[in-house]
Amino acid sequence: MISLSHQILNNTPQEYVRRRKPDWLRAKLPGGPGYLRLRQIIDQNRLHTVCESAMCPNMGECWARGTATLMILGDVCTRSCGFCHIATGRPATLDLDEPRRAAEAVALMQLRHIVITSVNRDELPDGGASVWAETIRRVRQSSPQTSVEVLIPDFCGDRQALQLVLDERPDILNHNLETVPRLYPAVRPQAKYDRSVQLLRRAKQQGLTTKTGIMVGIGETDEEVTALMRDVVERAGCDILTIGQYLQPTRHHLPIARWVTPQQFARFKQLGETIGFRHIESGPLVRSSYHAEDQVLSLSDVAPRGAG
Ligand code: SF4
Repeated sequence: MISLSHQILNNTPQEYVRRRKPDWLRAKLPGGPGYLRLRQIIDQNRLHTVCESAMCPNMGECWARGTATLMILGDVCTRSCGFCHIATGRPATLDLDEPRRAAEAVALMQLRHIVITSVNRDELPDGGASVWAETIRRVRQSSPQTSVEVLIPDFCGDRQALQLVLDERPDILNHNLETVPRLYPAVRPQAKYDRSVQLLRRAKQQGLTTKTGIMVGIGETDEEVTALMRDVVERAGCDILTIGQYLQPTRHHLPIARWVTPQQFARFKQLGETIGFRHIESGPLVRSSYHAEDQVLSLSDVAPRGAG
């Protein structure tokens, strides 16, 4: 039998961490009737989902429940974040019919709550904000009973672009900080921590319910997570926070620095609620859109439109 120390000595520490995925990260494989139904809706409408593009470990669970997170503005991102599996490049086109098809898909999905996200389109003058606005409008028209959560990019700090989205009054305005400020150069090289906090602050000032999310296990310390939680509540009044374990999509992405235990995730949740978040979803497999409808239900002022 190979001893633990032997394994560690014969692998780089990162390789060892990557191989030894703890049991608490094992997720259900996609399949079954719910999955097939969603597959058909997405494919027929020629749409993308972040579930697939980001290789989300929760597809088995979410898709079986009929929930997926649509990804608009195509499937090629102009940024190259160190953690993200979405393809990077200069997208060839801007598909102006996508909002119509996204609304069509949402209507077919018959959900009480939908989460929509997008790639970054930094090459466009408005960063894709007008397509965002059109998508929200069309989803509202075709699915008035569905509450809409948008997980938006930072539009390079362009206030007018952001305002196009805020004016559509999504039920939840989500923008992920992703990690602590010290790690931005490696994790989000084209983003700025303060710019993202300002985005959340602006949305909150306009009366929207706001949400952000971070990954842990990518090099941060627990103290830095606590400092981030305080900062985003104090400076931006953020309502909802998601915290999940970073999983390295391929060996070309940033390595996993540690496996955060379920107990530590529970401590983050407890601490964040004390700091002032109204809802925290914290756990190894938590992603921005994981159990998003439940988060909305826990906030009585933004209960899904169809909820009785
Ligand atoms: S957690 Fe979000 S991205 Fe992952 S499968 Fe569920 S809906 Fe898709």
